[in-house]
Amino acid sequence: MIVSACLLGLNCRYDGGNVKNAELVERLRDACVIPVCPEQLGGLPTPRESCEIMGGDGFDVLKGKAVVLSRSGVDYTENFVKGANEVLKIVRTFEVELAIFKDLSPSCGVRRIYDGSFGGKTKVGVGVTTALLKLNGVDVIAVEEFLNKE
Ligand code: SF4
Repeated sequence: MIVSACLLGLNCRYDGGNVKNAELVERLRDACVIPVCPEQLGGLPTPRESCEIMGGDGFDVLKGKAVVLSRSGVDYTENFVKGANEVLKIVRTFEVELAIFKDLSPSCGVRRIYDGSFGGKTKVGVGVTTALLKLNGVDVIAVEEFLNKE
């Protein structure tokens, strides 16, 4: 399986930190886990400006109908699409069937993402990498869903 790297304690978040989930780490101790951070794989630095999807969700970004902008208005759509494709390469190489992702992220969001206003509001939708993986048959679930069903 692949897992959002920030959930495992890697300092890859936009603010240079992580959101380590100790319960997840404990549950996965004996599993085959590939940590991925699509935003780093897309060439973005850490730390970096926070970004949100404007005009839709990850599926819309892949169709060219929405963009990923930083708080200051820089268009990073290309990096987000590149990162998603790099993750897809990993998925294909190792025949990954399950992704456990961090919700709300413009890359890894599974159930909800921020609404593009940078005001802390969320909406139903997926991140760019989640969208690409779903289109390629990967089961993508949020960490909370994984922990609740185990
Ligand atoms: Fe975590 Fe995904 Fe954001 Fe990287 S892109 S910091 S793995 S939520």
